[in-house]
Parts: sequence; structure tokens; C-alpha cells
Amino acid sequence: MSARVGVVGWPVAHSRSPAIFAHWFAHYGIEATYEVIPVSPDDAERFFADFAGSPYRGVNVTIPHKTTAFAHVKADAAASAMGAVNTLWRDGTVICGTSSDGDGFLASLDQGAPGWDDHAGPAVILGAGGAARSIVHALVAKGRPVIVANRSADKANALAVASGAKAIALAHLGDALAEASVFVNATSLGMEGEPPLTVDLSPMQANTVVADIVYVPLETPLLAQAKAKGLRPVDGLGMLLHQATVGFERWFGLFPAVDDTLRQMVAATL
Ligand code: NAP
Repeated sequence: MSARVGVVGWPVAHSRSPAIFAHWFAHYGIEATYEVIPVSPDDAERFFADFAGSPYRGVNVTIPHKTTAFAHVKADAAASAMGAVNTLWRDGTVICGTSSDGDGFLASLDQGAPGWDDHAGPAVILGAGGAARSIVHALVAKGRPVIVANRSADKANALAVASGAKAIALAHLGDALAEASVFVNATSLGMEGEPPLTVDLSPMQANTVVADIVYVPLETPLLAQAKAKGLRPVDGLGMLLHQATVGFERWFGLFPAVDDTLRQMVAATL
């Protein structure tokens, strides 16, 4: 029987995951369906509590259910650090969960800016929301020095305490950029319909990396500035694609490629 997997969220119709998985199913000859599974906040507790009895081999979990799902799974280290999961799979009768955004982000840097970690300087992360937290935890777990700044300073401070990163005030961002190996926009600024991110990248050293996790548009004003200044831009599509490899590998036992064909196919939908 064809395996059933999918993405659980509310709303979830906009998800690019079905297109990503359809590409891999065709490429690897896997008979499976990837479904969009809308679950309302009122039904989420019951959905995840009963997941073992569901027809799904595994699911991705997106907003607003990542913390609800976390309470019903055996969480790995990445998920425990976050208190949230985005990928569920079965290990016998046990439902396991991880949070793959952080490692997905690191894989996007490895692919988009090989050798980025040869520079010993800190990774400077702007933002302290869900995505920033996963990125900071993944970088710290990799042994990298990390600096966090955020509009709401209390959230940056809390993230620093929880992760072992260092928090700074926004006013000191320019100083931090001067020594940074990589600067990451992990806020929603620059996304279509949101205000642009206005950060001057002039203090950054030549050839250092500027990553934006916003992927609509693919080239944000921040990345355009990075390109114009001779820095190394990395867009947010890589993170989106690489975080999906984790579920595929858990459910089907093989690690799928994130190649140009996949990138171009998904980019065309943005
Ligand atoms: P979130 O939890 O709501 O966090 C939003 C972050 O943006 C917070 O740090 C917030 O600061 C900051 N922010 C929002 N509006 C701001 C403004 N006007 N000025 C300054 N800071 C502002 O959201 P999230 O889930 O982390 O997602 C953030 C972005 O990442 C979204 O655009 C999302 O689409 C993108 N994303 C991309 C991927 C990918 O795979 N590429 C994955 C996940 C998310 P405060 O704390 O001060 O509110």
C-alpha cells in the first residue's frame, strides 16, 4: 500500500512541501502521497495524542502546532532545545520528533557558501522568534560563537541564556558585524508585504556571508546589498528545502538531494 505522509498546520494550503516531496517521489521512484492536513487549533491536541492510530507514516508540523505536537512525542536533542517539533516519525510503536529548521539552515550555508565556517568570527543573528531560535541552537550545538540581537531585547536575552549565545543591543549591531563570519536575518523584515530590513552591511569583512531566511522574494533588499558589496549572499530557499530532507530520510530511508532542478522548480512557485 502507498505510504501516506503530509504536513499538519492551520492554515496550511500555502505550503510548498507537497511540491518538494512530489519531486523526490518521482525522482526516487517512491510510491507515496504527501497530503496537506489542515488541523484547527481546537483539534490539534487530539490529533497528536491519537497520532499513533493515524494512517500516516510521519508528518511535518507547521504553524501553529509545533509546540502542541512536541508534548506528544519522544523528542530528540534539537527538538528538546526548542520545545517544538516540525517532523514526526514512527520508531516501532513510539512517535518521535525533531526540529529540522536549524540543521536545514546549516546545510543551506554549507551548500550556498562552502567554507563559511573557516572564518572564526561569530555568527550574528538578527531575530529571536521561532526560526531564530532553531538557527541559534544549531550554531551553538556546532560549537560556533553566536551573537543575537532583536527588536524586543528581552527575547534576545532569554534566547542567549537558553542557548549559550551572547545577546547584544541593536545599537551595537554594527560593531558585531565588523567581526562576523556570517550575518543572518531571521526576522520577517524584507518579506513581501513587510517593511524592508535596513541594516548597513559596510562594516562586514570582504567575502563574509549574509544569509536571509526570508524567501519571498528570493532576493531580498538585504541580499541585493550584500551582493553589491562583494559579500556572499545565501537566500532562504535553501533552508526550506534542506529542512525537508530530514522527514524524507526518516520516512523512506534515503537522503534526498537538494539540487538545482528542485531549487528552480520551487523558486518558480514563489
Ligand atoms: P516569529 O516567531 O514571529 O519571529 C519574528 C521575528 O521577527 C522576531 O524576532 C520579531 O521581533 C521580528 N520582527 C517582526 N517584525 C519586526 C519589525 N517590524 N521590526 C523588527 N523586528 C521585527 O517568526 P519566525 O517563525 O521566526 O519567522 C521569521 C521569518 O522567517 C518569516 O519571514 C518566515 O517566513 C521565515 N522563515 C523561513 C524559513 C525557511 O525555511 N527559509 C523557516 C522558518 C521561517 P520581536 O521579537 O521584537 O517581535
